[in-house]
Amino acid sequence: MLTLDDTSELDELYQEIILDHYKRPRNAYLLELKDVSGEGINPFCGDEVRLTLSIDNNGIINQVGFNGQGCAISQASNSILSELCKGKTIDQLNVMIGQFKSIMLGKTVTLEEEQGLGELQALFGVKRFPIRIKCALLAWATLQDALDNYQTSD
Ligand code: ZN
Repeated sequence: MLTLDDTSELDELYQEIILDHYKRPRNAYLLELKDVSGEGINPFCGDEVRLTLSIDNNGIINQVGFNGQGCAISQASNSILSELCKGKTIDQLNVMIGQFKSIMLGKTVTLEEEQGLGELQALFGVKRFPIRIKCALLAWATLQDALDNYQTSD
């Protein structure tokens, strides 16, 4: 299990954002009335995340809740994700998931795409630490599975 030292080589500003989300996670509760839910684990690190979303009649995500436990990177990623979800459509979320994955797997994306990911940029430095990439991607992979299930069961 990790300690905060895992972020020590990340840039200072980014480290602050990650620690802030880790210590004060946003939307850290599960919704009772939910349209989409999912859970994921990263056995390499012991990280766990659970996500719930509700979607309005226009297909916009209007409520998000999550909880979980594990390292700072996995939990910060979960918290940042929860903020990015609100007000988006499923299609928009799928695009964001694809962009973030591409970046973490070392592919190049445009500056505009990077900036569109907001505070998530704080996690880009994690790609220099291959063992932690799964920590950063756990919430996103979990969300993608949950959205896929939602769309196929619709
Ligand atoms: Zn982790």
